[in-house]
Amino acid sequence: MVDVAKFEKQLLARKKELEQRLQGIEHDLDEPMSKDVEDRATEREGDEVLESMGNVGLDELEAINAALERVKKGTFGECVSCGEPVSEARLETVPTATLCRNCM
Ligand SMILES: [Zn+2]
Repeated sequence: MVDVAKFEKQLLARKKELEQRLQGIEHDLDEPMSKDVEDRATEREGDEVLESMGNVGLDELEAINAALERVKKGTFGECVSCGEPVSEARLETVPTATLCRNCM
């Protein structure tokens, strides 16, 4: 049996961290563009980086929410494909893992 509570705590901590980071990104994106054209180009580039970072964060957040949902249902740590337990070592590395080694 995997220590679900331990992973749930990890997932919740990571979720909080991501949400804070994403809020920070949104805040940065809302800042008015500078009037200087050259600055504007640089800023736009920066915004694109921030946006793609935001997308990565959102994907991870989604995976974390799905994992927390499985914690609630009591299926956390089970492979969503074959139902076999996902190894604890794998969950240590990727707490949001949904597939066991055989199904990857
Ligand atoms: Zn499997």
